Amino acid sequence: MTDVTRQDLKTEQPINWCPGCGNFGILRALQDALVDLKLPREKYLVVTGIGCHGKLFNYINTNGFHGIHGRVLPFATGAKLANHDLIVLGFAGDGDQYDEGIGHFPHAARRNIDVKLFTHSNKVYGLTTGQTAPTSPQGYKSKTSPRGSIPMPINPLVLALASNASFVARGFVGDVKHLKELSKAAIQHKGFALVDILQVCITFNRTQTWKFYRDRVYKLEEEKHDPTDLKQAIERSQETGDRIPIGIFYQKERPVYRASLPQLREQALVREPIQPKGLDTLLREFT
Ligand code: SF4
Repeated sequence: MTDVTRQDLKTEQPINWCPGCGNFGILRALQDALVDLKLPREKYLVVTGIGCHGKLFNYINTNGFHGIHGRVLPFATGAKLANHDLIVLGFAGDGDQYDEGIGHFPHAARRNIDVKLFTHSNKVYGLTTGQTAPTSPQGYKSKTSPRGSIPMPINPLVLALASNASFVARGFVGDVKHLKELSKAAIQHKGFALVDILQVCITFNRTQTWKFYRDRVYKLEEEKHDPTDLKQAIERSQETGDRIPIGIFYQKERPVYRASLPQLREQALVREPIQPKGLDTLLREFT
């Protein structure tokens, strides 16, 4: 079997993200990570939600499932439990995941469902033309908060850490090489992995721009951060303002959810023989 190339992972769909959108960096990092890991395409599944990020489904030539708003994690969880031989990669917008899909997030983390979640955190609803998102900073002005957003933003990293996530990282689209390495580490991690990605929406977010991040982002690994230390991870993940850390905040191996399910120990559910019963028999059993 020959290795998959980046060319193999491209599709013929014209890319219609706005020129300069940070989503290009996420697509590129993903393709490069999959090429580096030499993963045959049939080994993994890409699940996306609704939003500009969701178009990634059209631009990567792999198995894919384009779901509905906020439901990347339920679909990814179902796919993983049905066929745990698949590597399941979820891609969600920050509005998609931390607003509509917020309820699924801590539970996937605490269960240690072995899926990898990449969130496109552009702090705005891009596809629906620029409404305030749950990650928008306080005071953020948009058509839905013309006087400035009132509530505090959600901090997904702190939420993931408080939910016992076993891998928590943040990347930045302005450093594709670094994001590729984070993506590889997440894919290779056994258990739930979050990579929250600082993604620039050049069209609707005029505050969190390329320059804004370039002036503030720094790498945890260059500051002797210990990713096995939960307390340090929580402290670092609360840094905002002039310095914004990227890298692996926390990583700890612990048993994945399916390992405790006896029916999944032998083999993946999809490989179990199906012994269909007649409808009459089933109805008799349940009446
Ligand atoms: Fe990217 Fe924003 Fe354009 Fe959507 S609206 S494609 S997030 S720049």
